[in-house]
Amino acid sequence: MSSHKLRPINWPSGIKALVFDIEAMSFKFNPGMGEILCVAFQSPKWKEPRAVSYDDFEGYRDYHIQDRDFLLCQWMAEHFQDVETFIAHYGHGFDRPFITARMMYHGLGPFVQSIDEDTHRLAKRNFNPGKRGWGEGLPCSLRNLCEFLGVEHQKTGMSKLEWRQLMTNDYPDVMRDCAEYCKQDVRATLDVFNILKTLPGTRINWSLAESGKIGIVCPNCGSDNVQRRGTRTTTVSEYRRYKCMQPKCGKWSRGTKNVWAINPKDDDILVGV
Ligand SMILES: [Zn+2]
Repeated sequence: MSSHKLRPINWPSGIKALVFDIEAMSFKFNPGMGEILCVAFQSPKWKEPRAVSYDDFEGYRDYHIQDRDFLLCQWMAEHFQDVETFIAHYGHGFDRPFITARMMYHGLGPFVQSIDEDTHRLAKRNFNPGKRGWGEGLPCSLRNLCEFLGVEHQKTGMSKLEWRQLMTNDYPDVMRDCAEYCKQDVRATLDVFNILKTLPGTRINWSLAESGKIGIVCPNCGSDNVQRRGTRTTTVSEYRRYKCMQPKCGKWSRGTKNVWAINPKDDDILVGV
């Protein structure tokens, strides 16, 4: 496998949360088979997403069509192994099971067992918890959510012609376009998540996710713009209580260090009140 070189990609260590999206194709003539064409991903700390497609690996053409995403899957298994939280739109319904299937097919074992955020699940839970899903005109798809919430980056998508061209393997430009679409979906997902994350149902604790940071950080948005507001007393202890002062957040939280034991300059891990 050493002959399959990938162009160098800067991969910082300690990435805990990653927004991601895959473009993938399944073969109708062979049910259950498919391939991941590319993956785009962005740490919420990065300004721009990055993308890797199977086209980035020298030698992928040596593989049979059903196997040519092997190098990409192997790359994901290696590079994403420390990630604690993946943020994706409908990730629990599409991206994760698709990746899991491909990983198992290639004998790479299950995908990272993380605690994921899903903008589709968050939107559905908070905007339309009814059993039947979205009513007419209500946003559920990423495209609709982007429009509804008025975010900066809107979802784009490939045309049917471009998808057909991708199948034939003869249009390298289309693969680059595919990666660009994928990156744009990541930008849109991050924009949407940054709004929806203040709603109930999110799982990530930014106070922990950003624990490399000095100080006290809002568990909801990761901002250090938090103020102390009294205390929170439980049956066993008393903690400092905080309010996030970021305009779009405002979340209340409490520390996890006992008020009698904490020094004024100590860091504290905040959790929901
Ligand atoms: Zn906050």
